[in-house]
Amino acid sequence: MTSKEKSWKEISPAGVCWKASTQFLTGDWKTYKPVRDLEKCTRCLLCVLFCPDGAIHWKPEKGDIEFDYNFCKGCGICANECPAKAIEMKLE
Ligand code: SF4
Ligand code: SF4
Repeated sequence: MTSKEKSWKEISPAGVCWKASTQFLTGDWKTYKPVRDLEKCTRCLLCVLFCPDGAIHWKPEKGDIEFDYNFCKGCGICANECPAKAIEMKLE
């Protein structure tokens, strides 16, 4: 974003976003962020499937998942759906 562009906080309600969502870091919408307990996580990947923002990625080279906080909006769906209860929503 250049310094002349408005952030999403400055555009009027029902304003139209003027560029691709991949260029628009929406992660600062969140109040709560998902934090994973590595001991509890079974790497089942259900959270990857359920995240509506595609903000959880499977990293084959690590054999693990990774949250992308640039796009996570803090909806808590991943925490709700995790069968191992490995994700806790923590205040940002
Ligand atoms: S749903 Fe839970 S157990 Fe499965 S990969 Fe995600 S955090 Fe780990
Ligand atoms: S809190 Fe919502 S947006 Fe963020 S990783 Fe979980 S499911 Fe995705």
